[in-house]
Amino acid sequence: MFQKVLIANRGEIALRVIRACKELGVETVAVYSEADRESLHVRFADDDVCIGRPPGRDSYLNIRHIIAAAEITGADAIHPGYGFLAENAEFAEKVCASNITFIGPTPDQIRRMGDKATARTLAQQLGVPTVPGSPGPVDAVEEGQAIAAQIGFPVIIKAAAGGGGKGMRVASTAEQFGQAFTLAQQEALAAFGSGQVYLEKYLARPRHIEIQIMGDTHGKVMHLCERDCSVQRRHQKLIEEAPSPAVDQTLRQDIGDAAVRLAESIGYVGAGTIEFLLDTDGSFYFMEMNTRIQVEHPVTEMCTNFDLVKEQIRVAAGEPLSFVMSGNRLRGHAIECRVNAEDPARNFQPSPGLITAYHPPGGPGVRVDTHIYAGYTVPPYYDSLLAKVIVHGNSRAEALARMRQALDSFIIEGVTTTIPFLGRVMRHPDFQAGKVDTKFLEREPQLLKDLA
Ligand code: ADP
Repeated sequence: MFQKVLIANRGEIALRVIRACKELGVETVAVYSEADRESLHVRFADDDVCIGRPPGRDSYLNIRHIIAAAEITGADAIHPGYGFLAENAEFAEKVCASNITFIGPTPDQIRRMGDKATARTLAQQLGVPTVPGSPGPVDAVEEGQAIAAQIGFPVIIKAAAGGGGKGMRVASTAEQFGQAFTLAQQEALAAFGSGQVYLEKYLARPRHIEIQIMGDTHGKVMHLCERDCSVQRRHQKLIEEAPSPAVDQTLRQDIGDAAVRLAESIGYVGAGTIEFLLDTDGSFYFMEMNTRIQVEHPVTEMCTNFDLVKEQIRVAAGEPLSFVMSGNRLRGHAIECRVNAEDPARNFQPSPGLITAYHPPGGPGVRVDTHIYAGYTVPPYYDSLLAKVIVHGNSRAEALARMRQALDSFIIEGVTTTIPFLGRVMRHPDFQAGKVDTKFLEREPQLLKDLA
């Protein structure tokens, strides 16, 4: 096992990794930007190093500073969390070249799955269904037009290097295509340094279903069933749950097998997520693989009783997977709500600032993963996630009731949060019935009206 793990991240996920390390008896190093001096991850780590100014590129994205911090403090492994450098193959490579273990897949695995167009081709070769679309990346507008006409409108143009909903544009008609294509290329170039895009048919009402994967260095890959992340705004997840109300045991086996086949084909090591779209007719299509721990991993933890972050660390240290999934079944039902410092009434505009009062919900089956406290100032530089509320119940109905009471008793004052909005979604008849898809919020603008 490692002696000392450096966490190359901030916020709730940095705290989450510190907890896992403490349970494993491993020392921790926090890195932080000048804007995060007062952060809890700095307080709870055994060691800490300031790595630069607040903007990401000067600190949490600065590979040189992070590796230097690991070397100075004698860390023998680095956990990247999610976001920032978590899926940066160059970072993983430089970490390994410095004789430090990268807690995650190999640089080659990150690269192979990081290019979404290549990952799509791999899926096709393995007989895993993909959404009808371009056979590979598309360079010219005219070529794209021709393919779009063939697959039929609407189509979605996606950045090959994409992530976080960026570099994606929908074209509903041939007339819109040219502009959407150019915008997607520009956005992709600005966000990812590569303007390469590809096309997919834009499904009308899909659900987002993803499979949690775990692989070890002894050749074992297994899946831990699905999460349903269909409640999205602008292609970004807001609420996640497991199991999916739309997945029965047969479909679970089929999607799970497809996910394992993909991960096995590259000898995948560590935690990963394979994302699919589930169409209304029950067909599922591979979308992409994320080669890291996900924001929504706790819903799987609540339904399996496995600690995915501890497992990531163990596997990186060369240990075999410590658990098996019996019969590919989840226990009870879990829901996660992402609480953001944003104003839903103002187009979800970020609302940073001082938290003046804080009281988290509690009770049986309620978990809150957060880094905030009363007196903490939410800096304007990073994503606006304040807390994740995760509940577990014996049934979906019990989980829903638990989430409603948890949100109603969650006090965060000083900044505007999405709590009242999330409470409304929990009470919406379609959500209660489990009948949502990725366009649900688009169809329900009244959920945003007159929020207290
Ligand atoms: P990112 O990597 O930026 O998160 P994804 O490829 O994972 O992008 O897609 C994010 C979301 O965009 C999906 O969950 C879904 O809501 C929507 N989406 C992506 N591809 C399609 C498609 N072909 N049809 C309909 N919706 C799609």
